[in-house]
Amino acid sequence: ASATPAAFIALEEDHAAHNYHPLPVVVATGDGAWVTDVDGKRYLDCLAAYSAVNFGHSNPVLLDAARAQLGRITLTSRAFHNDQLGPFVTALAELAHKDMVLPMNTGAEAVESGIKVARAWGYRVKGVAADQANIIVAGGNFHGRTTTIISFSDDESARAGFGPFTPGFRTVPFGDAAALEAAIDENTVAVLLEPIQGEAGIVVPPAGYLPAVREITTRHNVLFIADEIQSGLGRTGATFACDLVGVVPDLYLLGKALGGGIVPVSAVVGNRDVLGVLHPGEHGSTFGGNPLAAAVGLAVVRMLAEGEYQERARELGAHLHKALDGLVGHGVVAVRGAGLWAGIDIDPALASGRAVCEALMVRGVLAKDTHGSTIRLAPPLCVSEADLDWAVAQLAAVLDGF
Ligand code: PLP
Repeated sequence: ASATPAAFIALEEDHAAHNYHPLPVVVATGDGAWVTDVDGKRYLDCLAAYSAVNFGHSNPVLLDAARAQLGRITLTSRAFHNDQLGPFVTALAELAHKDMVLPMNTGAEAVESGIKVARAWGYRVKGVAADQANIIVAGGNFHGRTTTIISFSDDESARAGFGPFTPGFRTVPFGDAAALEAAIDENTVAVLLEPIQGEAGIVVPPAGYLPAVREITTRHNVLFIADEIQSGLGRTGATFACDLVGVVPDLYLLGKALGGGIVPVSAVVGNRDVLGVLHPGEHGSTFGGNPLAAAVGLAVVRMLAEGEYQERARELGAHLHKALDGLVGHGVVAVRGAGLWAGIDIDPALASGRAVCEALMVRGVLAKDTHGSTIRLAPPLCVSEADLDWAVAQLAAVLDGF
């Protein structure tokens, strides 16, 4: 009896901190775009661990890379060199057309690292007076959960009760380049943005916005930091969401899919004139750049270098968005997104996002709500067109049922 889904859920309820509200499904295995629960029921995974499983569950190429490295060595710390880190950072820098990589583990660590690099660059290169640096961020942002990162969140549930907050951030509306320029002063060291806001509901800015941010930041000698932790690495139909509008930021923040859904791997990627400001002892992480992470990360970069996943996201994404647009007016108010990434606003008069996700789960589709009435679809990029059509049909049926 202890192996029932309810029993596993009860163990988490009793002994795991309640900082999440998961759908009541207990996943046991995964293969490609599909997962199977402890009762053997199959579900199409339309969340892909918030885009960390872009290349599918149990991807054979990535599993082989991980297994091969597991049998060699998994952790050295950066006190010594290892034979995986060099090839990984070289390949990732080449993929991003940059010089250097700062390897970390989680997305929030990449964001924190980007903030430190930008501040150090501001003091040491730009000449900002000590402790005066400011960084401009966008309203509705989501960059992670650490105390500094929540300091510039405007989501009260992420902030309330966790102060005091880190100073040095200014918030401007997302999508408004004029407001961003007006907020820049001589102490501004960076603009930190998600090129497409993920947790906010897959919010795509106006077409000219990111090019305008690039032009403004260059003109004011301010770094442009693109948080591509959720939008990057194939999701939008390009290697980076910035590529969709021909924009090259100074720093990319990467995470999630960089670890292939196997190990946490994140990175700050940029040129020597910026990332080169860090010196030994100023920053680090015991696990950052470990050989297992680097071996998996290298396999991920090699797959992305071929371009097949980006092409799948582009083509299947166009198909998905066409199908979803057909639901507007039928329980759906609006659909946004790019590639295999969609934010679907459910008519709040009909149902909450959570209720829609629970009903989808019963029908074998796993998706997650965000901000009340929005649901997000981000299936693994190996999903088939038939699977996508089936998922949209399940959503239509769910909406019909309310
Ligand atoms: N930045 C963005 C854009 C994200 O979407 C996330 C996670 O959802 C993060 C940063 C934080 O990543 P992690 O949860 O690995 O710390």
